[in-house]
Amino acid sequence: MKPIIIQNSNIPKYLSIFISISAITLFPFIISRDEMSDVTIRHEIIHIEQQRELFVIFFYILYVWYWLRGKVSGMTNDEAYMNIPFEKEAYQKMHDENYLETRENHAWKNYI
Ligand SMILES: [Zn+2]
Repeated sequence: MKPIIIQNSNIPKYLSIFISISAITLFPFIISRDEMSDVTIRHEIIHIEQQRELFVIFFYILYVWYWLRGKVSGMTNDEAYMNIPFEKEAYQKMHDENYLETRENHAWKNYI
């Protein structure tokens, strides 16, 4: 299914408790503060795919787990965020225009 994209929303600002969030993906919604570039939309659609694979709930459980694991190992909030496998995949592949067509299921596991 196609994600539902909402731009120019205040929701990401309200959710910026630990780190500054410019866009958030809550399957099937992609919600951003500003107009998103194609690259940012691709980043968020990668998260949509990850969430679909993990029935949404397991994505969020694992997301928090990986973030806490980074924190416990002494990382800053931003370092822990960038170390989450879901974010590693999204950041490394968001510039690849063909990625969403060629991505294999559970590709995020390559970034653990
Ligand atoms: Zn992300």
